[in-house]
Amino acid sequence: MSNRVHNFCAGPCTLPLPVLQEAQREFVDYHGEGMSLIEMSHRAKAYDEVHKQAMSLALEVFGVPDDFGVMFIQGGATLQFAMVPLNFLSGDQRAGYVNSGSWGKGAIADAQPHGDIYVAWDGKDSNYTRMPKSDEVKTQPGSQYLHVTSNETIGGIRMVEWPAVEIPLIADMSSDYMSRKIPWDRFDLVYGGAQKNLGPAGMAIVFVRKSALENTNRNLARYLRYDVHLEKDSLFNTPPVFTIYMVGKVLQWMKDKGGLFVIEKEAAEKAGILYDSIDNSEGYYSSPVDPACRSHMNVVFRLPSEELENKFLQQAEDENLVNLKGHRSVGGCRASIYNALPVESVQTLSAFMQEFKNANS
Ligand SMILES: *Cc1c(COP(=O)(O)O)cnc(C)c1O
Repeated sequence: MSNRVHNFCAGPCTLPLPVLQEAQREFVDYHGEGMSLIEMSHRAKAYDEVHKQAMSLALEVFGVPDDFGVMFIQGGATLQFAMVPLNFLSGDQRAGYVNSGSWGKGAIADAQPHGDIYVAWDGKDSNYTRMPKSDEVKTQPGSQYLHVTSNETIGGIRMVEWPAVEIPLIADMSSDYMSRKIPWDRFDLVYGGAQKNLGPAGMAIVFVRKSALENTNRNLARYLRYDVHLEKDSLFNTPPVFTIYMVGKVLQWMKDKGGLFVIEKEAAEKAGILYDSIDNSEGYYSSPVDPACRSHMNVVFRLPSEELENKFLQQAEDENLVNLKGHRSVGGCRASIYNALPVESVQTLSAFMQEFKNANS
């Protein structure tokens, strides 16, 4: 597979090669059915097995307790920005939000029309280069939940401490899903788009505490109701079968690798290699991020000038190190090193950074 590049894309992202190859083998004639999986009924037995397997692996590999359920919902993490307040707030009920950067802001913008939304901590003063400490987040009386973003994909910061608040947490974990343990007792719901760490685009994977759905808002279009998706086992309407199939395979791959424990450790190792390259560069590479909050998934860094950054990105691409450009809103460079990115890719990038520095400083 010599034509596979080192792909640091922020999303959609690199997927495990064995998973892609297995899907390729099965694609045209799925398990002797004489048709592909994406051509058959979503009520067919062959698909039903795929669906159930993906759901049970999601619960197993994430280490989800029995009082939670899993849902596959189209519309990505973005639709969850709206579904959370639509379901959990009625009338002008209140909820707190941590504004930790671009995605935190997105969640706030989409919640605002649906309740009394306030900012419980704002990263604005620190230019979104850090996350709050657990005691810095201030909730207001009557809040139904506190929404947090566990990892800001663009800013490259991760929430290290969960806020010490009395109300249930709800988290957007899109960009560090399945790379860290989740203290489930603190959460009523967590969600993330599949395409950052778990598969192709096409849906969000949502875990919900079942008892939290007892009093949710029913006055909604059915597709927007969590209780409907949960009760129908994510088969309320035609599900994104290909995405679910691929997520199932990626979860199996993760399980075979040793599960969450191994992946969390690997994520810290991979990130450590790149942060070491930055820290040991005598300031040639710099990170704008508070070292205590450095993301294990999205490593953002700058070079001494924009000119050098452009040269760096061009030469990296020539070496098959692709998608290292920072988000258009912040510039610079960003290496997204999600779960399926091999450690060799990170080592190759680290060596390239060293070489580039030697040749250009
Ligand atoms: C990518 C991303 C989103 C948006 O996800 P979609 O699935 O494209 O809607 C939301 N939140 C975070 C943290 C992300 O990284």
